[in-house]
Amino acid sequence: MVNKQKRKKYTVHFDNAKAKEVFSIIKSEWDKKEESGVFHGLVLPQDNYIPSYLSEKELSLLFFYAVLGQRGSIDSDRPMKIWAEFRKRVPEAFDTAFVLENFSSEMILSGLWETIGANNTRDRNKPNRGFKLKEISEFWIYNSEELLKFWDGDPRNIFSGVNNFKDAFKRIERKAGKTAFKGIGMKVFALLTIYLQERNLISIFPTPLPVDFHTLRILWATGIIKRSGWIRPCSITKNRPEQIIGKPAVNIYYEFPNRVAYWSTRFMRENGFSHLDMNPAIWLLSRSLCSKNFQNTSRKEATQYIDAYKLANDFSLWPRDYKDPCRICPIERHCKWIIPSAPYWKWGLLVKLGRRVSFPRLL
Ligand code: SF4
Repeated sequence: MVNKQKRKKYTVHFDNAKAKEVFSIIKSEWDKKEESGVFHGLVLPQDNYIPSYLSEKELSLLFFYAVLGQRGSIDSDRPMKIWAEFRKRVPEAFDTAFVLENFSSEMILSGLWETIGANNTRDRNKPNRGFKLKEISEFWIYNSEELLKFWDGDPRNIFSGVNNFKDAFKRIERKAGKTAFKGIGMKVFALLTIYLQERNLISIFPTPLPVDFHTLRILWATGIIKRSGWIRPCSITKNRPEQIIGKPAVNIYYEFPNRVAYWSTRFMRENGFSHLDMNPAIWLLSRSLCSKNFQNTSRKEATQYIDAYKLANDFSLWPRDYKDPCRICPIERHCKWIIPSAPYWKWGLLVKLGRRVSFPRLL
């Protein structure tokens, strides 16, 4: 009985029929991105900043180190830009053997720090702005050692001879929640796999969506994620605003996104979707459109949100000249809920704030 209850708590329930509809719409939109649609003209960070002169091994190593910046509360665009710039300034920091002989974590830290400063992203009050640079610098040395010891200093060797994600992940998995590399759990490893696959550096096999905030927002806002024992009323703690207290919320423990990740691989395989389409499309949709939805914004350091009821009843609350992103969103009719990013970046919380209110249309 206890086991049954425990299992129930750790289950995430999905609406596969809804997922099929939503994924199909997103896929059609993605397919026409060269000519038109919401994805037209958008560039992914991994296609934007990477120098073209790198050899395949150098490129693989750049991705291997760059994924370390994709952890925690960080806008996914920034790490790729910063890491590519750091690679240009200090190419030796991306060679495992050289790193181990010549670099300390303090040197990596100062190199990253200078690069961030050079990219004008330094904020005197919040110097790391979401990056855990000290931790990343320590992981840099540790991971270099592991990669050299077990995979001859080349990330592609982790994948050699494997034809599915599970087997690749098993190669780095050590015990529950831990891998051979620090800072590289399932989400980050899925991202690394996708980066390498997109450049044909390793073979292409079904891979989970790297389940980050953006993926979870789309899946939950559209009702693809139906319910789960992980979803609990947001509890009261210091600093959390009243507006989110009691709202359905998920604390992003590693197990919840991993459950979603496992589902995504199975679902996409069984329904003919490729992670190479769905991952960038879902990420871009949330990042480029949902983030511009008025209700998804917050004020005063994530402590003030727009009240859905008031908004629905008072047109004057909408911003002047509001450019409604939902009007052009291909999945609008499936999107019912507002899941702002602020509680996620601030407290690691995904909060279903309330119903999405449609911006009144005059025609
Ligand atoms: S309808 Fe709006 S909030 Fe919902 S997925 Fe589309 S852009 Fe995002």
